[in-house]
Amino acid sequence: MDCIFCNIINRTAHAEILFENDNVISFLDTSPVNFGHALVVTKKHYPDFLTVPGNELNHVIQAAQVISDVISRKLKCHGFNLVVNNGAAAGQTVKHFHLHIIPRFDQDDFRFKLNLKKYSDDSMREYADKIREELK
Ligand code: AMP
Ligand code: ZN
Repeated sequence: MDCIFCNIINRTAHAEILFENDNVISFLDTSPVNFGHALVVTKKHYPDFLTVPGNELNHVIQAAQVISDVISRKLKCHGFNLVVNNGAAAGQTVKHFHLHIIPRFDQDDFRFKLNLKKYSDDSMREYADKIREELK
């Protein structure tokens, strides 16, 4: 299997690595939304969010908290987004689990909340019922 993130981890591909420990690696995204956009990646290859064991998710989120704090202070960004794209429909292009840390600035031109939908009548409860049925 040829995976670019595995290649970065085993040093057969170059990356601007920011941080590494036994469980995760973090490096700059080569196509940043804003400069300083970083990825936090499990060292083990899991294809997506749903296949990552809970303890590995803990490692990722704990590293992300430290790294996003440093990015905020060093780059003086005004905020940041933590994003996981899961599945091609959601924009996942690399099938090795990763979390994006996207530095944000007041009035930058990146927008998540475009074309928000409105629930009609009872449909909000119907959606909630469908989901919570299996969460009970
Ligand atoms: P996603 O689209 O959520 O799967 O995110 C994959 C991200 O990896 C994209 O934002 C790419 O720009 C980034 N990416 C792809 N190849 C590399 C690479 N060799 N080094 C750093 N980032 C990369
Ligand atoms: Zn991989």
